[in-house]
Amino acid sequence: MAARRTTETVDAIVVGRLDQGEDDRIYYLLTAERGRVSAWGNRARRAKSPFAGLDLGVRARVGLRSGSSDLYTLVGAEVLESRIGLRARLERLGPAAIACEVAGALATTVPDTRLFGCLETALLLLDQHPEDPSDGFLAALLAKLLTFGGLAPALERCPACGEAPALPMAWVPQGGGAFHVDHVPPDVAGSPRIPLEDLAQLAQLRRLPLLQAYGERAAVAPMLALVEAHLGQGLRARVWLQG
Ligand SMILES: [Zn+2]
Repeated sequence: MAARRTTETVDAIVVGRLDQGEDDRIYYLLTAERGRVSAWGNRARRAKSPFAGLDLGVRARVGLRSGSSDLYTLVGAEVLESRIGLRARLERLGPAAIACEVAGALATTVPDTRLFGCLETALLLLDQHPEDPSDGFLAALLAKLLTFGGLAPALERCPACGEAPALPMAWVPQGGGAFHVDHVPPDVAGSPRIPLEDLAQLAQLRRLPLLQAYGERAAVAPMLALVEAHLGQGLRARVWLQG
């Protein structure tokens, strides 16, 4: 029996794009209603394509036609937020690209308004805030995305013993966060130390609204390493990060 084809319109954020063939393109979308969605854009790379405005981080109402596979077909797009401010400066594009990649990788096909809302807030700030973001903003954003993705970083309890941090602590991305040095699993021995104040700062940033975290300073490298350990691969968007 042929699969029943239906068309629906959803609110989506473009979290990734992959060129196909001569002028087609697959769009990876984060939606509140459908979670992560992949959609094929026929002739999307032609100059007059109705999908031409679907850049990374753009929010749009898109028409999706279901087919026989998980891949939808894009049948329409109305850009709601073009977010040109994101692409005006590398200081903003870097964190935006990282946020899109991480949110897209953590999302499932289960609807999730928290992950969607977190990415939307981050992109809104990166587009419109008068200042460039701090490294603390990116650290806070990554901690929140991981938490909403069900992979909350261990910042306030050692995963091995459940006790609060005490000197010395080690940062173990493969183990999900900070361990007492004596409790580090043997297969990841040799993990670097992390200062208690860095841990406290990250724990505080995770709880802080993104707007308040926007100018805060923090070490972002441990959070990036944690994300990459969870995803099992390096972040492609790292190339956009400065410094
Ligand atoms: Zn411990």
